[in-house]
Amino acid sequence: MERIIHKYGGSSVATPEHIKRIADRLESRHRNGDEVVAVVSAMGSRTDELYALAERITNSPEPREMDMLLSTGEMVTSTLLSMALHELGVEAVSLTGAQAGIRTTAVFGRARIADIQTERLEKELNRGRVVIVAGFQGMTEDADVTTFGRGGSDTTAVALAAALDADRCEIFTDVAGIYTADPRVCPKARPLQEIGYEEMLEMATTGARVMHARAVEIGEQYGVAIRVASSFDETAQGTLIHGDLTMEQGNKVRGIAHQNHIAKVTVRGVPDRPGIAAHLFEPLATAGVSVDTIVQNASVEKLTDMTFTVAPADLDRALQVVQSAENEIGPAEVVSDPNLGTVSIVGTGMASAPGFAARMFRTLYENKVNIDMISTSDIRITCVVASEQVDEAVRSLHDAFDLDRED
Ligand code: ADP
Ligand code: ASP
Ligand code: MG
Repeated sequence: MERIIHKYGGSSVATPEHIKRIADRLESRHRNGDEVVAVVSAMGSRTDELYALAERITNSPEPREMDMLLSTGEMVTSTLLSMALHELGVEAVSLTGAQAGIRTTAVFGRARIADIQTERLEKELNRGRVVIVAGFQGMTEDADVTTFGRGGSDTTAVALAAALDADRCEIFTDVAGIYTADPRVCPKARPLQEIGYEEMLEMATTGARVMHARAVEIGEQYGVAIRVASSFDETAQGTLIHGDLTMEQGNKVRGIAHQNHIAKVTVRGVPDRPGIAAHLFEPLATAGVSVDTIVQNASVEKLTDMTFTVAPADLDRALQVVQSAENEIGPAEVVSDPNLGTVSIVGTGMASAPGFAARMFRTLYENKVNIDMISTSDIRITCVVASEQVDEAVRSLHDAFDLDRED
């Protein structure tokens, strides 16, 4: 007998027929004697539709109400899957995040899990029921519903695997695992057998939306091995995300991640003295604007330029905040570019070997891609480039680093 957590993403539960098929799979696991918890996402593009609905009412919905609205998407799926199991004669129960005991911080739209009280879940499993949990949501101390940010159902699944000490945590999605690059952009991309937490986290935070970054962090923290596989092709092995890779990593790039849309803000002519960065970035943080790459130019006559990137949805807010910081930083010219993207190469093999950056820059140059900004970590190099050149950049880097070849 195993205790297993399955997670099914939006396209895997897009229609009642999809949901019935998943009920069949869960039924056979249950019949095997396994304890089964299934985490589900909203059906198809339901979450996008809920955003669009809110937009028809207001341009600035209260974050609390927005979370309440968004949480309904996964609730619909969980009840339908439970009903589909009942039809097969299987005892099942659907639970919202709150009912499943998931307690979160009170940050609407990107709440973090504070704690999971597992009594109810354990009780239902002990009764022999399949438990269906609505993904991407929890509840604050004050009993307000929160959500975890786009793609957050993965995080529900991995956190439940940790809290319930599950034997397996499997994420079923619309591709056959973690690929060397997004297979929709790069036809030569191939699925990896395994990938380390660290590399997966860098991929996820730089655009590989196949896994929610928080889920990878929790996996690493609690030692949960995560299998990512196709919900449509049961025979495919998928990819194991884990901490003790047996395979020789080699001197290689493991994968390429990209973001098609980011925005850049440049504040020109700010005085080069202590405190300027704090005066700029503290109010941005307070306003909830998450800043990625930051570059400060060398100063000329005690004046410098400060450039940073944000999600396009945060651009207007970032510009307002920067303009209102003029009191502290003095009058500065603020310019922005909303039409940028990023391409990143990731691999632990890069940490100790030179030459990766040079090859990346040459490849982009040979493909006439101008690099706007560069940022690095030990195991990643990211270039900010024009939005319309991102996809081509991914494909040419995939070729340049021989990622279509088996390790
Ligand atoms: P789900 O609804 O199952 O959570 P997502 O849409 O969130 O699915 O994530 C799956 C998608 O992630 C794929 O369809 C693929 O286009 C995209 N993706 C981006 N990078 C990668 C990658 N390196 N490997 C696999 N898929 C990727
Ligand atoms: N339904 C949510 C979204 O579309 C959460 C998820 O699918 O993981 O972002
Ligand atoms: Mg997802």
